[in-house]
Amino acid sequence: MNLLKDLKINTKVDTHVHTNYSPDADEDATFSSYITQAKKMGLTELIFTDHVDFDAAHPLFKTPINYDTYIKEFNSLKNASDFPIKLGVEIGYQSHVKEEIKSFLTNYNFEYVILSIHYLEKKDLYTQEYFTGKTKKESYTRYFKTCLEAVQEISNFDTFGHLDYLVRYSPFGDYEYREYKKLIDQILRELIKKNKALEINTSGLRHNERCYPKKEVINRFIELGGKKITLGSDSHHPSELATAFNRF
Ligand SMILES: [Zn+2]
Ligand SMILES: [Zn+2]
Repeated sequence: MNLLKDLKINTKVDTHVHTNYSPDADEDATFSSYITQAKKMGLTELIFTDHVDFDAAHPLFKTPINYDTYIKEFNSLKNASDFPIKLGVEIGYQSHVKEEIKSFLTNYNFEYVILSIHYLEKKDLYTQEYFTGKTKKESYTRYFKTCLEAVQEISNFDTFGHLDYLVRYSPFGDYEYREYKKLIDQILRELIKKNKALEINTSGLRHNERCYPKKEVINRFIELGGKKITLGSDSHHPSELATAFNRF
């Protein structure tokens, strides 16, 4: 990706990592196993970003992480480790819990916040429930509209996670950027206006898919003047760390 070269993306830092505090992560995905793996791979920093989804539609995610315990474990490890780690979070946006999200982000002093969308209209993308009874156009338009709303409503975040990730679970397959250009451009412009980053999420490259968002959208962000891009593997196991970072 030539356009990316000028932006000097740091491929030695993985900014999107789930530990076993996230219900969908592997049991072996401990803070320390990630640090061991990161050192082996020559990374220089890890940002741990476990899931917080208020009113999650998926039963696994209904029990929230106890952040008092979490932060205690994180801090004792941070103090004992010679490897730089940051306390982050991946917060899932839904319209009806936006006030909860705002106060959560104010109450905890995260060093890094990924704003993402996993559920829409109280329905799960992962189980495809969201897509039931909708056309492709309807489901994709509503998804991008909600992304825009998230970026407009929430200010306390650093990067927007895996924009267009609905494609991964969608029965309708990939989309053409130009069909949703107006909405996507609004999202990108809002990120730029608020001085936020766009995440390149490389998790799709583990499954021979693509990164999220797709190349055209990343290039468009840069074309519109976006300077901040973060690189995240969305690891749920240490073996997934920095997936395909060498391609950037
Ligand atoms: Zn996510
Ligand atoms: Zn994630």
